[in-house]
Amino acid sequence: MHNVTMIAGDGIGPEISNAVAEIIAAAGVEINWDRVEAGAGVMDKYGTPLPEQVFESIRKNKVALKGPITTPVGSGFRSVNVAIRKELDLYANVRPLKVHAKAFAQNQAIDMVVFRENTEGLYVGIEHYVGDEAAESIKIITRKASRRIVRSAFEYAIREGRKKVTAVHKANILKFSDGLFLEEARNIAAEYAQTHPEIEFDDKIVDNMCMQMVQYPEQYDVLVMPNLYGDIVSDLGAGLIGGLGLAPGMNLGDEIAVFEAVHGSAPDIAGQNKANPVALLFSAVLMLRHLKEKEAADRIEKAVSDVLNEGKVLTVDLGGNASTDQITEAIIANL
Ligand code: NAD
Repeated sequence: MHNVTMIAGDGIGPEISNAVAEIIAAAGVEINWDRVEAGAGVMDKYGTPLPEQVFESIRKNKVALKGPITTPVGSGFRSVNVAIRKELDLYANVRPLKVHAKAFAQNQAIDMVVFRENTEGLYVGIEHYVGDEAAESIKIITRKASRRIVRSAFEYAIREGRKKVTAVHKANILKFSDGLFLEEARNIAAEYAQTHPEIEFDDKIVDNMCMQMVQYPEQYDVLVMPNLYGDIVSDLGAGLIGGLGLAPGMNLGDEIAVFEAVHGSAPDIAGQNKANPVALLFSAVLMLRHLKEKEAADRIEKAVSDVLNEGKVLTVDLGGNASTDQITEAIIANL
């Protein structure tokens, strides 16, 4: 029995979270879900969109499955998603890009994992106007954050039997900031070359990397990069494997792991039994691997691939007309 925090989220969150919990139970994994609430909808009840119980539960269980949470526009309301990552120091945003359904992928050879540094870079939000005619944004790259994200990518490569780590940067132009990231990436790679010589290391300039991902994806395995590049490259990757409805993710710190889909709360289809639960389900599959439930993870992954490849029960985003309930049932029937 595993203890896992569940934040169902809002919008389509509750529908897809329930579907995922049902499929995991059907696969025979026993999880004691510690359900906690967060988001704009709980403001009246708790006086905050992010009650302390959420952190208490995640800190206790160390593992959470999280549905999407809406960030209201123009309300001075900070993103609950960002606040969770910050408070728990989840510095690695990780997006595995794997082809599960041939019909939806742009290239069948894609099997890589993007490690995005999640705490600094251009996303520290330090900006100002310079007079009326210009604006400046400050990009921060530290040795500490660079070292730990690259280390995290190597540790993952070792754990998952991956063969190569590629550091992605623009150090040819940004010689100080990206130069420092690359220098630390090379330092960490030199350390791992002593203990794990089987893992290859190289580096690529980010624009070239984007082209390579599309043209020669088979040459890449684990990619690690600063925040902004990670944001863009991982969405490019999501597009290559079939879009938002299929793209899973996880946020890792030193001890805590929070698993969530790449997509948001899809308010346009919320409550209509139309949402595709697969991206959150693939995130849960990553969680099961983290919990060492490999056999169940493989079985769920295969059941989903079978349903998608058969092409009979597909949600609207994948060009079908099946409901959330129908695709959930089809996956369970395939388990
Ligand atoms: P979105 O991902 O919610 O939706 C984009 C489009 O994709 C919509 O048309 C939606 O219907 C569709 N879509 C997304 N997920 C789907 C699924 N599982 N099945 C079927 N269709 C799906 O992006 P958005 O509209 O830009 O954001 C909506 C809200 O979600 C915003 O408030 C945003 O801040 C929030 N958001 C949260 C997270 C998170 O919780 N980690 C991530 C991204 C966005």
